[in-house]
Amino acid sequence: MVDIMKELGKESNLTKDIYPLVEIRGENLGTNWKARVRATLEENSSDVDGWLGKYDLFHNKDKGEGNWILRELDESSHEGRLNLWKKIKKIPDGEIDPSYIRELKIYKGATGICRDDSGICISVLNTGKHYPDDIFDEGILYHYPNTPKRPKTFDINETNSVKECASKGLPLFVILPGNNSKKRSIRLGWVVDYDDDSEQFLIKFGEAKPEPVVEKEEQGFVGKTKRKKKLKEVATRSNNQTKFRFDVLKRYGSKCALCNIENKYLVDAAHIIPVDEDGTDDPRNGLILCKNHHAAFDRNLFKIDPNDFSIVVKDNLINISESNLITKTGKMPHIEALEYRFNK
Ligand SMILES: [Zn+2]
Repeated sequence: MVDIMKELGKESNLTKDIYPLVEIRGENLGTNWKARVRATLEENSSDVDGWLGKYDLFHNKDKGEGNWILRELDESSHEGRLNLWKKIKKIPDGEIDPSYIRELKIYKGATGICRDDSGICISVLNTGKHYPDDIFDEGILYHYPNTPKRPKTFDINETNSVKECASKGLPLFVILPGNNSKKRSIRLGWVVDYDDDSEQFLIKFGEAKPEPVVEKEEQGFVGKTKRKKKLKEVATRSNNQTKFRFDVLKRYGSKCALCNIENKYLVDAAHIIPVDEDGTDDPRNGLILCKNHHAAFDRNLFKIDPNDFSIVVKDNLINISESNLITKTGKMPHIEALEYRFNK
């Protein structure tokens, strides 16, 4: 039956497709062969009541409709997606034709998020134009869709389809620009985290499913670490910064801690113990500040008292509207980081 389903290659109907092919391929089928074919599918499918609980080879897509597909060919299953990935990997990176991506049903054109027949996101498209800083070595920050000229429910459904990848532990494909404008590059990605406030997904690249994200609160705080001397300073700088920005936005929300600016495009993730002084990328060593107050922090135009989070400022010509740090989530940076900075 596996061979038969492989030969059919796609979702197939028991009466219209499967029986006829079995009849062609089979020898000495005997009288009850149709019942036997049906039982073989059902006994090896967790989708139906007749499952024997051992092998789970076949997927019954719409219950009762008699439509079957070999699980490893089903793009909404883990195996199916890894199977597609095996095919993609054979092509040199950056040399993939868009037509091949469509043929594999990974991407259908139109908007940035593409869903498979089950409605689960199968790929996200990054043209590299809008947010070039969002790609880093290990992954990508992918913004929730926000498409004008179409109902908001489209965006919500697409966003939920990406979240479904996270909850089901399914990989997806990240489509990136290729070696030239006619080619594409594809990465296998995993949705490891998302933030409804800054409306971003954190997608990590890799062959295997990454370890789940551990809440920082449960880990000891390390404010300083010897950073490796980087040769390609400019090229790698934004890499860690991208992940740091995601973590800090997720921790505190997109509001400046000193004023009422609240917009993900106008705020920065600032290090409290500076990177130059080996400050780490632990989000508890970070703070969300608007561009102006980030610049003011870098120039030490104000201080944050670690005892009560109050803001100490000589004159307020720099538009600080909060008397204490105020974050959207109510979370605060780590005391050790604030103490280091205050005593500097
Ligand atoms: Zn501000």
